[in-house]
Amino acid sequence: METSAAALSQPIADPGDPLLPVLEVVRRTFGFESLRPLQDRAIRATLEGRDALLVMPTGGGKSLCYQAPALVRAGLTVVVSPLISLMQDQVDALRADGVPAGMLASGQEGSDRREVERDLESRRMRLLYLSPERLMSPGFLERLVGLDLCAIAIDEAHCISHWGHDFRPEYRQMGELRRRLPTTPIQAYTATATPRVRADIAAQLRLREPEILVGRFDRPNLTYRVQARRDLVLDVEAVIARHPREAGIVYCLRRTDVEELCAALQARGVRCEPYHAGLDPGARRRTQRAFQSEELDVVVATVAFGMGIDRPDVRFVVHASLPKGVEQYSQETGRAGRDGLPAECVLFYGGADYHGWKSLIEHSAREARENGVENAGADLDDALERLAHMWSLATGAACRHKSLCRYFGETDDAAAAVPKGCRACDVCLGEIARVADGQVVAQKILSCIVKTGQRFGATHVTDVLRGARTEKVRQTGHDALSTYGLLAQHAAREIRAWIDQLVGQGHVRVADGEYPTLFLSKSGVEVLRDEQQATLLAPVLPQAKRAAKPSAADEGADEALFERLRGLRRQLARERGVPPYVIFNDRTLLSMAARLPASPEELRAIKGVGDKKAADLGPAFLAEVASFVRARESGIAPAAPPVD
Ligand code: ADP
Repeated sequence: METSAAALSQPIADPGDPLLPVLEVVRRTFGFESLRPLQDRAIRATLEGRDALLVMPTGGGKSLCYQAPALVRAGLTVVVSPLISLMQDQVDALRADGVPAGMLASGQEGSDRREVERDLESRRMRLLYLSPERLMSPGFLERLVGLDLCAIAIDEAHCISHWGHDFRPEYRQMGELRRRLPTTPIQAYTATATPRVRADIAAQLRLREPEILVGRFDRPNLTYRVQARRDLVLDVEAVIARHPREAGIVYCLRRTDVEELCAALQARGVRCEPYHAGLDPGARRRTQRAFQSEELDVVVATVAFGMGIDRPDVRFVVHASLPKGVEQYSQETGRAGRDGLPAECVLFYGGADYHGWKSLIEHSAREARENGVENAGADLDDALERLAHMWSLATGAACRHKSLCRYFGETDDAAAAVPKGCRACDVCLGEIARVADGQVVAQKILSCIVKTGQRFGATHVTDVLRGARTEKVRQTGHDALSTYGLLAQHAAREIRAWIDQLVGQGHVRVADGEYPTLFLSKSGVEVLRDEQQATLLAPVLPQAKRAAKPSAADEGADEALFERLRGLRRQLARERGVPPYVIFNDRTLLSMAARLPASPEELRAIKGVGDKKAADLGPAFLAEVASFVRARESGIAPAAPPVD
C-alpha cells in the first residue's frame, strides 16, 4: 500500500497504543514533543515488524524513524549507511543524547572497535551503524542474529538502484539479505526516488508487502532561483553578500572551475575554501572539518563535497552550472535549510552546460557500447532524458516548487498543494517576467536561424541578431540578411539566454555531432508561422533585496544573544570534538534567544532539549542567557560573541 503525506497521524486516544512509549522516548531523549505525520506511520510499521520503504526529502526526519523504535524494542537495530563520516556524525549525535550507539568501519582504531564489540556482547548497544560490505561480510550476519537482531534500516537506499543517480555496486550485495534473514524486517529510507527507483529498491531488497510511505517533496523553506549566467563571479558574490556570516556551498562542474571561481572570490575579499577530489586528503579534511565546525562558512566545491556534510544551517546553495539531472539538483539543493529555516538555492546556467553534458553522456555511452556493456543504449536514452528534464526546469517558466513535485512523481494533488504564488521561487516572486513581445522576439530568432541556413551555433546566430561585426559575419555575408541587427537593442547574453530558452522549450534543436548547430523543430516552425506561442523570460529585478534569509527577528529572537549562543556552541563542540549541531541546532538556539529560559525546566521545554542535554549542556547555556539578560537589564551592551 502506498500512502502519501496527506494521511495525517491519528491522535492517540488508546492508552495501549504501541506508539506511546516511542513518544515518551522521543520527548525524553531527543526533546521533540511530537512526531511528524510520516514518522508516525513509519514507526508504526517498524513496531509491527513490517518491511517498509520511506521516501522523504532531506531534512524530513528519516533518522528518527529507525532511531526511536530501536530504543523501545528489545534487540539490536542495524543501520546501513554509505559513508563513514555520515555514520560517525549520527553516532556522535546519538551519544550526545545518551543513546548507546556505535559503528564498525574500516580504518577504525582498535580501542574504538573493542569498545563497540564489548557493548555488542553485553547487549547494551541499541543501534549499530555499518557499511554494506561489513554487513555482508562472511559470518557477520549470523553473528548479529545471535545477538538478537530485530531490524535492519538501510539509509540512502536509492544507492541500490541502477536507475538511481548514485548507484553503488556494494549496495547490490544487500539483495541477498532477505534470503539470509527471512524473518528480520527491513526498512529502506531514501530522499530522492522517482517511482521507477522506488519500485526498483523494493524489488532489489525483496521487500515483503512493504509499507510504502512517500513524503511531500516540496521543501517550502527553500527559495529557488534560476538565472542565465552573466558574470559568474559577480553573480555568485551577490548571492554570498546576501548571507553574511551564514553557511553556503557553491557547486561547480569541474575541479578547474572550483579553483578559478574560489580564487576569484577570494581576490574580491570573500572568505571561502575550495574542495574537490583532486586536492590532497589533508587539505580536504581540514576544509570539511572547518565547515562542519562553523569556522568556515563558504565552500566552493565539486559534488565531491556533499554526502558526508551534515551541517543543518546551510543557508544557501549555488550551482555555478547546470546539474545533469533533477535528482542531482534536488539532492544538492537539499543540503540547504535542513533545519527547516529559510534558505536559498540559486542556479546559474548557460547553453554551453547543456551541450557539455550532452556530449559527455554520448561519449561515455559510445565507450560503454565499444566495451560491450549491456544496456548502453537504454542508459544513454535515460541519461539524456534526465538532462532534458533538468534543462526544461531551468529554462521553463513554471513555479519551481511545482515543477520539482511533478518530477518526483507526486500526484497532481501534491503539486496543487504548493500554493499559487508560492512566494518561494523566482517565478512566483515575480523576479522574472515574460517578455512582453516574446512571440515576436522568438520569431526573430527562429527566422535568423532559418535565414543563416540552420548551419550555425548559438554564438553566431546571436552575433547576427545583435548586428555584430565579427570576422565570421563578414565572411558569411550575414550582415546583408534582413535579420542582421534585428535585436540590436538587446545585450548578447540576453539573446543567448532566449535561444537557450527556445531550446529548452523544444522549439529549437541542437544538432548532434561535432558542431552544435541550431535548427528548427516542428513546433519551432509552428511558432514561426504563429500557429503556436513561445514564452520568453527576462529577469526583472536585481536580487539584492530579495534574500530568503531567516533572521533572528523573524523568530522573535534576540540577534546578539543568538550569535553568543552560537559562539558557545562552537566552543563546546571544539572541546568535545563533535560538530556544533550535535550540541544544539539553530532552531533550538533561536528558541532560546527568543524565550530566554531562566530555569532548567524552562530550558527543557524548548524543542531539541532532551533530558541528557538539559543535564549536560543546560548549565552552560542557561548561564550564557542569564549573563546576557543581566547585561541588558543593567544597560551595558552585551559583549561581542567569542572570537575563534
Ligand atoms: P533526514 O535524515 O530525513 O535528512 P534528519 O533525520 O537529519 O533528516 O532530521 C532533520 C531535522 O529535523 C533534524 O534537525 C532533526 O533534529 C529534526 N527532527 C526530526 N524529527 C523531528 C520531530 N519529530 N520534531 C522536531 N524536529 C524533528
